[in-house]
Amino acid sequence: MRIEVENEQIVARKKQEYEDLVKEMEAKGLEARLERISIITANVFGVLVMIIAGAIGYGAFYLVNGKDAFSYDKLFGFAIPWGIMFFAAMYLISIFVHEFIHGFFWHFACEKKWDSIDFGFNVKLLTPYCHCREALSVKRYFWGSIAPTLFLGVLPIILGVVIPNLFLVTFGVIGVVGGCGDIMVIWTLRKHKDCQLFDHPHEVGYAYFVEKKGE
Ligand SMILES: [Zn+2]
Repeated sequence: MRIEVENEQIVARKKQEYEDLVKEMEAKGLEARLERISIITANVFGVLVMIIAGAIGYGAFYLVNGKDAFSYDKLFGFAIPWGIMFFAAMYLISIFVHEFIHGFFWHFACEKKWDSIDFGFNVKLLTPYCHCREALSVKRYFWGSIAPTLFLGVLPIILGVVIPNLFLVTFGVIGVVGGCGDIMVIWTLRKHKDCQLFDHPHEVGYAYFVEKKGE
């Protein structure tokens, strides 16, 4: 496992690691193609996901627990302004936990386990990231990709409705929105079922390897 703040050397190293992998795959008769995720589409999709997850989460809470359980003070755990601060703190922590969950699930899939997992912080985008240094099958990539959305999104919503705890529903809705980039990636996986995938070092998206056609 490497934990680092991304800088130029690290970007160059990741690029080199990617190029080495592409060469290695070429020797096996495979070539790399890119699946890119559009940032604009991701943002539009994020708003849509927020509306849908909110409607389902709060709708279920309302239906199961009734009108009386619902109060604006409980939306963020405490009354405003403390509630907003508490929520912001929880949200910040959850961004790091999200990346950790990716790494945790991907490390099982890797031959070199934790040695192939990098955690980093991108200073320009102010976001933490998890980068896997091995090419993974679609099935293994899928579980590592969906896991944070399940644990920080779907699960808190279900718990929030069952307990009942309105803050957990809010936390879960935001957790699902936080996973919408991952959901978009997962949606593209159906096209590359039998391929090996690799996180692209600088594009938003991944490379997948297909048999080279003699042209
Ligand atoms: Zn993610």
